Amino acid sequence: MINVKGLKKSFGKNEVLTGIDVEIAKGEVVVVIGPSGSGKSTFLRCLNLLEQPTAGEIYFEDELITQRKYDIDNARKKMGMVFQHFNLFPHKTILQNLTLAPIKVKKTNPAEAEKIAMDLLHTVGLEDKRDTYPNQLSGGQKQRIAIARALAMQPHVMLFDEPTSALDPEMVGEVLEVMQKLAHEGMTMVIVTHEMGFAREVGDRIIFMDGGQIVEQGPPEQVFGAPTHPRTQDFLSKVL
Ligand code: ADP
Ligand code: MG
Repeated sequence: MINVKGLKKSFGKNEVLTGIDVEIAKGEVVVVIGPSGSGKSTFLRCLNLLEQPTAGEIYFEDELITQRKYDIDNARKKMGMVFQHFNLFPHKTILQNLTLAPIKVKKTNPAEAEKIAMDLLHTVGLEDKRDTYPNQLSGGQKQRIAIARALAMQPHVMLFDEPTSALDPEMVGEVLEVMQKLAHEGMTMVIVTHEMGFAREVGDRIIFMDGGQIVEQGPPEQVFGAPTHPRTQDFLSKVL
């Protein structure tokens, strides 16, 4: 589904991604871990072209999306992204938060958009919040709505950048539960997280990044159970 070749990204003289090669298959759940500043967010943001790569190629569903003439909006429509901070539209109801982009960007008819939105509110367990506003929700509820809003565009892949890092501890579980449900339904997901228990349980593959590159990757049992690279061992000894 996604094929990344020789991806590099610099900000000025600072080379933040120093050459990333990775393939992500349809239905795969890939969890990216690594120390702060290792380039995890930049990597995710390059995948959906929120950042323009400095070098390298990204294929998405067999299309070269890093070519100059490619319509970036086309990739963004098919890649949902959830951030640490939820960025819901404060002056729109929860239902409107979920229907706005499908109606405006995808030209979905409003009745159909509402039907999809209500199904998603059911999935995240917040049907009763349809007519309330974001500031009436807890952090965990806001993040569940942010996930539902991304899903409302019916993306082919979901990118998560530390979706639980800004939450109070008691709200982390409800968000991870929604993500786990998505994973079980076969959604292709790339997740940056510090929740190692979740990574181990839900990830098909763990990627450990350090210094702007992939240092080690493999199934969770391997990366967590028997990491081979000293930098992975060092990182895991600090977080586990
Ligand atoms: P991580 O998500 O692993 O913590 P980031 O991808 O956010 O790492 O950042 C990696 C490096 O890139 C950091 O040194 C950060 O300061 C730098 N960086 C990220 N975004 C920008 C930007 N927009 N402009 C300049 N430097 C940036
Ligand atoms: Mg980050």
